[in-house]
Amino acid sequence: MKDTALYEAILGLVSPWSVSSVQLDEPSHRITVTVAYAKDTVQCPTCQKTVRKHDSRKRVWRHLDTCQFETYIEAKIPRCDCPKHGVQTLPVPWASSGSRYTELFEAKIIEALQTTSLLAVAKLFRISWGAIAPIMGRAVSRGLSRRQLDNVEHLLVDETALCRGHDYVTVLSNRAGQVIAVSDGKTAESLAACYAVLPMKAKLQTRSVSMDMSRAFINATEAYFGHRAKQIISIDHFHIAKLLTKAVDDVRKQDAESFPSSMKRECHRTRYGWLKRNDRLNKQLRVLICELSKIMVNTGLSWVFNEQASRIKPMINAANTVKAHLPRILNAMRMRVSYGLAEAINAQIQYIKLCARGYRNKSRFKMAILFHFGQLDMAFHHKR
Ligand SMILES: [Zn+2]
Repeated sequence: MKDTALYEAILGLVSPWSVSSVQLDEPSHRITVTVAYAKDTVQCPTCQKTVRKHDSRKRVWRHLDTCQFETYIEAKIPRCDCPKHGVQTLPVPWASSGSRYTELFEAKIIEALQTTSLLAVAKLFRISWGAIAPIMGRAVSRGLSRRQLDNVEHLLVDETALCRGHDYVTVLSNRAGQVIAVSDGKTAESLAACYAVLPMKAKLQTRSVSMDMSRAFINATEAYFGHRAKQIISIDHFHIAKLLTKAVDDVRKQDAESFPSSMKRECHRTRYGWLKRNDRLNKQLRVLICELSKIMVNTGLSWVFNEQASRIKPMINAANTVKAHLPRILNAMRMRVSYGLAEAINAQIQYIKLCARGYRNKSRFKMAILFHFGQLDMAFHHKR
């Protein structure tokens, strides 16, 4: 087999495309495969009409390495001049339009990214972070264009921070752990943008949307689902537990303010103990808590109850919040909704962020979330 025929087979080229030469440049460890287009006529990419070739433009694509040699495809790409659609560049069978890499190269990158960190992939393929991003972007676009959103019965919404800052994205997912949409910020508009991605049938089929007590998320859900929102919005015990834990901690901090400094220290030392159930405390901590309770009941709690109810304000606030959200909390129980899944997705998102040493670029971060957790079909289906 001649080297030109070998590369024709590898690239899956058929007439009028063929390999005209293969050049090896040893000092630069580079192989250049030159591909030619044999016909004088071309088909308009828009209307398929056969027209005369207008001119051609030389372009280069990186392909998978041949042994240790970086391999490039070089070709003069014909342009057609369709009377109806004007001058257009012909699509090539080995690469997506706009890409500087062959589909096989992109497919390998996508495969590697599923199991390996961004940095490792960049190193392995000797390609920059900046060059990987558009490959991921095209993969996500392919996946989104094919996606049929069937699983919209139970949804979860959560927010996640970008880097360390106060910049957030809102993530909408389903019970299968599939991320459906990601949008900027954590406002009502953010969630509305996620809902806009849902198929129309979601308005009738969705039975629960699990969320925290954010007013913005509740507003957006009421706006999207209308009167059904009352049955749909679900706040599960995870958020109630978080709320109560914080209230207990706030009471402890307030209490400690009036204590002498030696007791303040003890109070601080036991801060996690107060948040635990009695039977989950270790012996040492239980003894300490019991000791402190005596003092706190005398100097603190009894006084609080009798004279200054406002000092347990965090608990009262928490109780009021629970009361205000009671129908939504009951929805979560009725639907057996668990927010654990949203938390699990969030933890995984934190992990990819870690692997990429923090995403400073919001659009890349959103794309990476869909790439890793969108459960998208991102393969190249045609030809090979
Ligand atoms: Zn045309």
